[in-house]
Amino acid sequence: MEEVVIIGSGPAGLTAAIYAGRSQLSPLLITGNALGGQAATTSEVENYPGFPDGIGGMELTQLMQQQAERFGTRVQMDEVVEANLRQHPFVIKTYGATYETKSLIIATGVSPRLLGVPGEDLFKGRGVSFCATCDGFFYKDKVVAVVGGGDAAVEEAIYLTRFASKVYVIHRRNRLRAQKVVQQRAFENDKIELVWDSVVAEVLGQQTVTGVRIKNVKNGEESTLAVDGMFTYVGTVPNTRLFEGQLELDERGYITTDHRMHTSVPGVFAAGDVQERALRQVATAVGSGAIAAMEAEKFIAELEGQAYPDRQW
Ligand SMILES: Cc1cc2nc3c(=O)[nH]c(=O)nc-3n(C[C@H](O)[C@H](O)[C@H](O)COP(=O)(O)OP(=O)(O)OC[C@H]3O[C@@H](n4cnc5c(N)ncnc54)[C@H](O)[C@@H]3O)c2cc1C
Repeated sequence: MEEVVIIGSGPAGLTAAIYAGRSQLSPLLITGNALGGQAATTSEVENYPGFPDGIGGMELTQLMQQQAERFGTRVQMDEVVEANLRQHPFVIKTYGATYETKSLIIATGVSPRLLGVPGEDLFKGRGVSFCATCDGFFYKDKVVAVVGGGDAAVEEAIYLTRFASKVYVIHRRNRLRAQKVVQQRAFENDKIELVWDSVVAEVLGQQTVTGVRIKNVKNGEESTLAVDGMFTYVGTVPNTRLFEGQLELDERGYITTDHRMHTSVPGVFAAGDVQERALRQVATAVGSGAIAAMEAEKFIAELEGQAYPDRQW
């Protein structure tokens, strides 16, 4: 019987593990197939406090994992395929094992939203990518398109200019949503060309991507951009399919929590992007991960009839 199972190895899950570990709950953390989560795919994190010169996303999450393991977290490289939250203890099934647990912290994050256009699926991994840090290197002296206008799109476009000879940023509106400081950097970068008011209608190619057909949303005109790769950052969908019908979700599928990260099922907590509505960032993920772990500790103590210490630091 586990005290606490944590699903997800991004900043929220790893922080929950650090806190649960320090509370001597010996947490079991199931990583999923994205070790370190979305944060690990981020080229550079510049806005997480404590790193004045920025830090690579992969390095940051590796440090978090080391810290979690130092306090007794058991990291299991596996993926949860089924969760039964209708009974207590909860039952969590992975490809390799079945666990019973007194409490559960869900930190499964979000996945990139797809464009849903012809060619996107066909060329996934052959020119269509969602991770500049993972795949940017393959585009040395090549031309790429980045789709989107938010922080992730613009930051990764800037990162891609380290390798690519040219980076088109295709955005459906006539102004970016990214933070001003990031926008400014993009505007000053000679390798970046903004393609305004446009959407990708089709990904073109033979063995690999050779171009994208784009459509101007204002006048309906279509044209083709010759590119060797396309990186998409057009929003996200929450990884909550396992919990549908068992937990209260909002209209977009995110887990509903209160300010203490309690879900609609007592003993089940959610942290990070999978429940965050206001700001999906590393800083908010670690905050909610910490709260979720402390609430899980409290839940277990109350379950076992122990008075939970009212901690003041
Ligand atoms: C390109 C890009 C750039 C970004 N840049 C920044 C930045 O500069 N600064 C910043 O603060 N934030 C940035 N972010 C956002 C930041 O990465 C996220 O807010 C943060 O990673 C959220 O952490 P999380 O732990 O909630 O989720 P995630 O990091 O997404 O982790 C989710 C985890 O859940 C696991 N999982 C999912 N399903 C299952 C399952 N069935 N079984 C087991 N495990 C599962 C996954 O394997 C993964 O480990 C960026 C994001 C992107 C995509």
